[in-house]
Amino acid sequence: MFGYFCVMITDETIIALSTPPGIGAIGVIRLSGKEAISITNSVFSGKDLLQQESHTIHFGMIKDGNVIIDEVLVSLFIAPKSYTKENVVEISCHGSNYIIQQIISLLIRKGASAAKPGEFTLRAFLNGGLDLSQAEAVADLISSDSQAAHSVAMNQLRGGFSTELNQLREKLIHFASMIELELDFAEEDVEFANRDQLQALIDQITLVINKLIRSFELGNVIKQGINTVIAGRPNAGKSTLLNALLNEERAIVSEIAGTTRDTIEEVLNINGINFRLIDTAGIREAKDAIEIIGVEKTMEKISQSAVLVYLFDVINMSASEIKEDIAKLYKPGVAFLAVANKMDLTYNDRLAELDLPKDINFIAISAKENRQIDDLKQMLYETAVGDQLSDSHTMVTNIRHVEALQKTQHALAQVSNGMVNPVTSDFLATDIKQALYYLGEITGQVTTDDLLENIFSKFCIGK
Ligand code: GDP
Repeated sequence: MFGYFCVMITDETIIALSTPPGIGAIGVIRLSGKEAISITNSVFSGKDLLQQESHTIHFGMIKDGNVIIDEVLVSLFIAPKSYTKENVVEISCHGSNYIIQQIISLLIRKGASAAKPGEFTLRAFLNGGLDLSQAEAVADLISSDSQAAHSVAMNQLRGGFSTELNQLREKLIHFASMIELELDFAEEDVEFANRDQLQALIDQITLVINKLIRSFELGNVIKQGINTVIAGRPNAGKSTLLNALLNEERAIVSEIAGTTRDTIEEVLNINGINFRLIDTAGIREAKDAIEIIGVEKTMEKISQSAVLVYLFDVINMSASEIKEDIAKLYKPGVAFLAVANKMDLTYNDRLAELDLPKDINFIAISAKENRQIDDLKQMLYETAVGDQLSDSHTMVTNIRHVEALQKTQHALAQVSNGMVNPVTSDFLATDIKQALYYLGEITGQVTTDDLLENIFSKFCIGK
């Protein structure tokens, strides 16, 4: 385990490979620290790097004595105009593991030290280049694998989310100081902090915080992908639908009831959101042991799913069977989509008999003939996401933030209580300070070494 027992900036100049390990066209080695430029200069043959301007790129050779290791491009960022606010050098070399290791070990011999995971970003944070939620956004950005996850992380990185919290925090600080002032004049029994205004501010902050907490659910879903279960009786056409959605012959389509025994997981991207599709082994009572496992898994998956797609065979199932299934599966509050399959065969009468509840999203398709599949995708998106994404600038995707927000919410409720059943100003002041403390934990005005260690140790080396 890499420890930050002493979370402060040392004089060391750190070095790491910043591109993924393995063979690539180029590899980028990054150095940060006071000596970054001079250490690089000591092995570089080309221009004198110490005489060059910030934000310039130079071609030359890295040499170990007389041995040429590689021809490289060196980018210079002179403090404080760099990611870490220190001198930063990025060496773009050829992407062979051998060359990269040779260059890194040479520079370590010349005085650099190997960076710990996340240490570049830690330095950026400690030097005031990023706040904590932005630093975490860097980690998210690096790992984002869908357009939506990328734009949420990018938003957070650009500070949208911290700005909102900081504005709220400032307002609270104002009230905290007014109440502190009352403490100084305790004998006179004056109120500098208008209680109605304070209550109004608390209501306003609580509203924003609640919204942020709620956004976590969706934010998290965007980061992880939306768990989507396709459930239906054997032969409803689940495997065929999965293939149609993915345009590939992934699941085994079979005429024999109950052959899709294992759950199969595939990812489908709709409008930039990843849906994790889980094909399942029918919801009919299972007859043999293998299928029981499959069915148990199905029920387990259904309970963990964010969206449930119920697929039914509109030709071979009776209306009462379909209704029975829907009654079993549909729970208000869970995103639910009923899909009638095999519309290529006649089905009109059956649908009229069904008389589905109005609040259930419904669509008829033909999985086999690829009809209405795009409409189904669009409906799936609307069922799961709806218009919730328009609020993406205030999206929370981090469990640590949610915890801090919940604690803030609790402290604010205490402040409110303290005004309804009046308590002395010093109690109010204490509760407000608690709220300020938790808000500050999110953006990093309040940090402890443990917290920093926890966050930055999750990064990979070179970030
Ligand atoms: P599963 O058991 O729910 O996975 O069902 P399958 O995908 O294996 O399909 C069962 C049978 O129904 C296969 O013979 C499919 O070709 C057929 N089938 C699936 N979708 C359609 C459809 O839209 N129209 C028709 N006519 N047949 C379909």
